[in-house]
Amino acid sequence: MVDEKYISQIVENILSEMGVQNKKEKKLLGVFDEMGDAIKAAEVAYKQFRSYTVAQREKMIEKIRKYTLDNAQMLAELGVKETGMGRVSDKIIKHQLVAEKTPGTEDLDAKVWTGDRGLTLVEMAPYGIIGSITPSTNPSETVICNSMGMIAAGNAVVFNPHPGAKLTSNTAVDLVNRAILEAGGPENLVVSVANPTMKTSDEMVKSKSVRMLVATGGPGVVKMLLSSGKKAIGAGEGNPPVIVDETADIKKAGADIVAGASFDNNLPCIAEKECFVVSSVADKLIASMLENGAYLVKGSDIDKLIKVALVEKDGKLVINKKMVGKDASKFLKEIGIEADPRLIICETDFNHPFVQTELMMPILPIVRVNDIDQAIEYGVKAEAGRRHSAHIHSKNVDNLTRFAREVETTIFVKNAPSYAGIGAGGEGYTTFTIAGPTGEGLTAAHSFTRARRCVMVDGFHIV
Ligand code: NAD
Repeated sequence: MVDEKYISQIVENILSEMGVQNKKEKKLLGVFDEMGDAIKAAEVAYKQFRSYTVAQREKMIEKIRKYTLDNAQMLAELGVKETGMGRVSDKIIKHQLVAEKTPGTEDLDAKVWTGDRGLTLVEMAPYGIIGSITPSTNPSETVICNSMGMIAAGNAVVFNPHPGAKLTSNTAVDLVNRAILEAGGPENLVVSVANPTMKTSDEMVKSKSVRMLVATGGPGVVKMLLSSGKKAIGAGEGNPPVIVDETADIKKAGADIVAGASFDNNLPCIAEKECFVVSSVADKLIASMLENGAYLVKGSDIDKLIKVALVEKDGKLVINKKMVGKDASKFLKEIGIEADPRLIICETDFNHPFVQTELMMPILPIVRVNDIDQAIEYGVKAEAGRRHSAHIHSKNVDNLTRFAREVETTIFVKNAPSYAGIGAGGEGYTTFTIAGPTGEGLTAAHSFTRARRCVMVDGFHIV
């Protein structure tokens, strides 16, 4: 149950930290009652924004970074309280990552050709107003990350956030607007609706003013956007396998997998969701996981766990939404065990529903395999063509290369926790919108642009 009073208190704290003392002013900036009014406000903002320089855009991004760092803890607390999912300490890290490693305007590159017939250049132009649908699993992180990339590229943004995370998402919309205003930008460059629904989503998707659509979420929303008839970026679901072969540093692999799979209670779409380990090193791997905060559930307790994590729908086992992103201790309590580990592990076979379902819960099924061939076969099957993420611990270059080639995922992490794939403890920038289905990969400012070519014939070629 959402504790409205607690949430109002947190929002009040946030607003007062942002310097909004007067009760009359206590409206979340950029958040409208009607989608039509939100879009109209974004149209006005976009018109003004067209005259801003790239340097001015960068100033706004810098302010968003600062505001996000300053409010990371409050946004993390609000997210956990409103959605009932995830861990505050991990959500703080996610906000820091967004603030520090989301690219700004430096991500925009021009291309030039010069030659006997003059000069041609291609610049990365804004799309205009972008409609973005955001998930409940990383609500404020996605709003802030999308805003930074989209604004860096010169766009305005209309959000239709997940209804179950509307307060957290809209508090992030407010934060972004405050940062923009303080940096001298236009009001309502980023807008949203107070009560997002399928109807407001439909209105946004169909609006003539919205030129590009971005969806971060499960398969339903991605499919809907891709049939909209507009340019769309779809960042869909994952079910990332992790392989451990006999050449790996097993102690490190155990520690890394627990760290990745338990991060924010396994909510991130990139997090390890099933493990395939070569039999000869399986006991050692499990021992390392236990040393690093995992709890092993065995026998009939695994069956009990299925009843907690999954529910039957139309004759199929699907995730029990009430348990998504909950602490491991809550699952254990439901099956009569008192313990507070970061992660639950259990041994299963390949066909087990924990392997085949994107749980987004701190439960990692481990499947013993004969060799790397079987590990890769199972890893590819479990990922099931989503082209999202896959991970491996191995020192055998052939095995590393083969799995990467066969699984064809957007993110592939070797010998590290999964979150290294979005820049946490690994090289490269951060995003919370990973577009596998539509192929943009880790989205950033460049993803939210359209290429425009300008040709000068027989001039400006100076050599
Ligand atoms: P969800 O699919 O339930 O909701 C995502 C958003 O889509 C919400 O705003 C929701 O209101 C909206 N939505 C859902 N179905 C819709 C439909 N048919 N029409 C219009 N809007 C619709 O997802 P969630 O539970 O919030 O997030 C978890 C899912 O998102 C997981 O599957 C996870 O893998 C995925 N995810 C992917 C990425 C990525 O970058 N690829 C990032 C985060 C989450």
